[in-house]
Amino acid sequence: MLSEINGLSRHFTEDSLRQHLTERSIRRDDGCLIIRGYGTQRGVYQKVAGRAWAHIAAYAVFVGGYDPDLEVDHLCNVKDCVEPTHLRQVSHADNCRTRTQAPTCRNGHDREVDEATGRYRRTCRACNRDSQRRWRERQAAEVAQARAAYART
Ligand SMILES: [Zn+2]
Ligand SMILES: [Zn+2]
Repeated sequence: MLSEINGLSRHFTEDSLRQHLTERSIRRDDGCLIIRGYGTQRGVYQKVAGRAWAHIAAYAVFVGGYDPDLEVDHLCNVKDCVEPTHLRQVSHADNCRTRTQAPTCRNGHDREVDEATGRYRRTCRACNRDSQRRWRERQAAEVAQARAAYART
């Protein structure tokens, strides 16, 4: 089964690969298991154990049943995460479909990713904040107007 992982060093067994991945990763408070690859860059797919993609190697040994015809996708959208429960296999088409959502809201704010689904949140917090602020400003203006009217009488 390990032979199906592209670029993986031949000397790895499932056990030693599991150990290798565990030793190179750090658990974050949000549940993600962040792997340290060969590079120093974060937020990208990482390569380990030869030239294999860390998330694919993790899927193969922690989840099992790796299908090389499918892609390994991150539910958490954290590219260097190897937490098994955050990984799932999807077809290339499905993987692309999840990326067709616009990355900004209609007012141009960067949208937030819902960690549970890996998709963008429907509501925009920045827009919500703006409309709440406008509402408070309107309230304050009405109160000021009422006070001014009262002072004149
Ligand atoms: Zn994760
Ligand atoms: Zn917005």
